[in-house]
Amino acid sequence: MTPPPDPLDPSAVALRGDGAYPDSQVSYAGATYWLERHADGARRLIAVTDDESVFDRFAGTTETVGGRVRLRAETTAHNAEALRHALPWLTPSRVGLHTSAGFGDRLGLSTPGHVRALTAVGAPIRPVFAQQSIREMGRCHRTPRDVLDDATWGAFQAGWTKPVGGDADHLEHLDDVDATAAAGFAFFTLDPKARVDAEAEHADAAGIMTKVEAIDWPGLDSDLATFVNRYAGQRIDLEHDAVELDKESVLRAMAKYGPSLAHAMAMYRRLAEKGAGFEVEFAVDETDYPTKPVEHVVVVSELKRLGMDFISFAPRFVGRFEKGVEYIGDLEELKRDFEIHAQLARALGPYKLSLHSGSDKYSTYPLFAEATRGVAHLKTAGTSWAEALRVIARNDPDLMRRILALALDSFESSRKSYHLSCDPARIPADPSDDEVARLLDVVDSRQVLHVGYGAILDEFGPQMYRVWNDHEEEHYRIIADHFVRHLEPFAPYAQ
Ligand SMILES: [Zn+2]
Repeated sequence: MTPPPDPLDPSAVALRGDGAYPDSQVSYAGATYWLERHADGARRLIAVTDDESVFDRFAGTTETVGGRVRLRAETTAHNAEALRHALPWLTPSRVGLHTSAGFGDRLGLSTPGHVRALTAVGAPIRPVFAQQSIREMGRCHRTPRDVLDDATWGAFQAGWTKPVGGDADHLEHLDDVDATAAAGFAFFTLDPKARVDAEAEHADAAGIMTKVEAIDWPGLDSDLATFVNRYAGQRIDLEHDAVELDKESVLRAMAKYGPSLAHAMAMYRRLAEKGAGFEVEFAVDETDYPTKPVEHVVVVSELKRLGMDFISFAPRFVGRFEKGVEYIGDLEELKRDFEIHAQLARALGPYKLSLHSGSDKYSTYPLFAEATRGVAHLKTAGTSWAEALRVIARNDPDLMRRILALALDSFESSRKSYHLSCDPARIPADPSDDEVARLLDVVDSRQVLHVGYGAILDEFGPQMYRVWNDHEEEHYRIIADHFVRHLEPFAPYAQ
């Protein structure tokens, strides 16, 4: 358990400078810490203590003020690490089966808005502020440490004093595991999608046999006959449904996922070598076809047999979960899909079900929260970026017009690896100020801007950060309002 902070030391409050973020001020283990913003926009950590040795890990300057030692330290990676050590709730830890939400933040600026949303909703939803996929880190030129450190400073700035998770999202290679584990992440999303065989969805019986015979069975510590004996003819009775495992469907499931299981296990063992204190999600949400109940059973059972201890599973649900827009599909069908996967997660686990590309899908949250009874993880990635663009649209429409033009120019390359239904041809080429203000409310422009972040930040990053910096209150307010709508449906089930 992460210890709570101490009562705020009132004598330290008097030492707070004009640029201090009042919410950040916190006392713990003999010192009081806060964050100050200076006229140049730079933030600095300030802390006071009676025992200078408390500051040994920080790199900064100290002076004596009114008989106490005051530290001034830059918000560097080194000092982020020291701060996580000094205020232990800021160190990512395992989230377990608690209801949780992942707040991807491409910019490293949004965490204070996320904290406000959580505080406003008030339910015990565990946050994962530090969360970014390797793909996104590459496009944003961020390192795993940058992601972790920005979330640390943001949570500190906004006064978050409860546990946090840290999600190294969509890891596909062994190197990704090494890089993110070294940075200090606690939650690892293993995504072996490159080895999921989509052809198995429609292959004929002979094609399926060819595929399952080609599986590296010794690598899975099994053989084909044993596999068939283990699953074929079984029936899993659930609370309201039953899943029949016939030979054809278990073979098809293995033809599809078998090779990916070996790779996921290789990543898992790599993590396990590094020691305890981590947890894992197994994710196949970015595959081409919805995960069938039989596939859920086979995949999860095989991973368990092989020794993977995972805390959550992200199937590919029915319908379309596109970036940054409402769910596209039949809600009744999705409700049934949530229910059967949630029953399986209780029967075979318990483990959490994880809803990826979860942002902006307001119609799905009540269904997901209810089906899982709050044993759920909601993962959002780019929606904070899309919402941050509102700040630019409102305060610098000319810059926004140039951003839109670039997003349209780079769309064909930016869209790769994303599921989208936008039509760039429907976006006004030279939008008026009113049209600029609505760009984030229209599916076509929202998606084009949503996926264009890499090219946009490469070209306009410094100007955009200046706008966000000049309007940070507005930015946090927009993010907070947006996330309250995401989190509220989970509140009745949060645990
Ligand atoms: Zn995902």
